[in-house]
Amino acid sequence: MKKANIYLLLVSLFFILSCKDNDLKIITVTGEIPASKMGITLTHEHVLVDFAMIDSITPNRYNKDSVISKVLPFFEELKPYKVATFVDCSPEFLGRDPQLLAELSRKTGINILTNTGWYAADNKRHIPKEINDMSPEEIAHIWIEEAKNGIGNTGIKPGFIKIGINDSDFSETDKKLVAAACLTHLETGLTIMSHTGRASAALAQLQILKQYGVDPSAFIWAHAMVESSKDNILTIAQMGCWVAFDGVREEMVSIIRFNDLLHYMKSTRQLSRVLLSHDAGWYQPGKPNGGDIRSYTSLFNSLIPYVMSEGFTQKEIDQVITKNPAEAFAVRVRKIAK
Ligand SMILES: [Zn+2]
Repeated sequence: MKKANIYLLLVSLFFILSCKDNDLKIITVTGEIPASKMGITLTHEHVLVDFAMIDSITPNRYNKDSVISKVLPFFEELKPYKVATFVDCSPEFLGRDPQLLAELSRKTGINILTNTGWYAADNKRHIPKEINDMSPEEIAHIWIEEAKNGIGNTGIKPGFIKIGINDSDFSETDKKLVAAACLTHLETGLTIMSHTGRASAALAQLQILKQYGVDPSAFIWAHAMVESSKDNILTIAQMGCWVAFDGVREEMVSIIRFNDLLHYMKSTRQLSRVLLSHDAGWYQPGKPNGGDIRSYTSLFNSLIPYVMSEGFTQKEIDQVITKNPAEAFAVRVRKIAK
């Protein structure tokens, strides 16, 4: 082959590869955006959570306009911090409302992600009873349908898979949900976020991912800060899984704990596996005027200034609140390399 041809070949190969990277997308309630546009992201929050039993849960339990007017000021508070994207983690049967989120997104200009998946934690109060007779394939079929054709008749597609499993006893139902999440991931490329808690439950789930050939980088271990052993958190981060320190609160005890975790992850060179958020909000149907809402700002007005005063650089902060979320939520199938 001539030199010029080789050069052309290399240039086009580079072009194809770089396009492939640029094409990675995030699925929001108002459509797809390039992962590079996700910006500063809150990776685990809630607009609305309804703790009513599954049989009595319905969107008629609240008025959408009241929810929006109550939540809007808390979204406005995010503007000075340039938050571009908000990941809403309320699953189906626990207050997921894609149309409410889409309206909020249009009103605020903040991208919002919703999810597909079921939540077995909280004594299975929020999961269909039919699950007992369903196979992982049958469950996955429902979630894949949502991912491909939208949720109900809204046309709104989920941007990730959210499951919730019981921390203390990893039941057959829990295993089924994780298996269904793996099947859905392999078909759709959506990232799996699992409400988990301790390391033992995270490891049990990663074992199921392995059986299905799903790479740990497709899995977000939600509430990883609940695990008391930092060594255990490190071990799981080193496996390639996302560890979500998603319970930042305003109180000093919380700021100190999260500061400690962040410095530990930095010293062990695992900051590239960390996600941060508040698990805050939310409008709660059944409470007068939706109850009290916890704001989504402690990360910006308390934790970040604190960790920076303790030696974190802006680049390290950007890694955790911008770069990592885009990598974690960019839609693509992640199989274990053979
Ligand atoms: Zn949550």
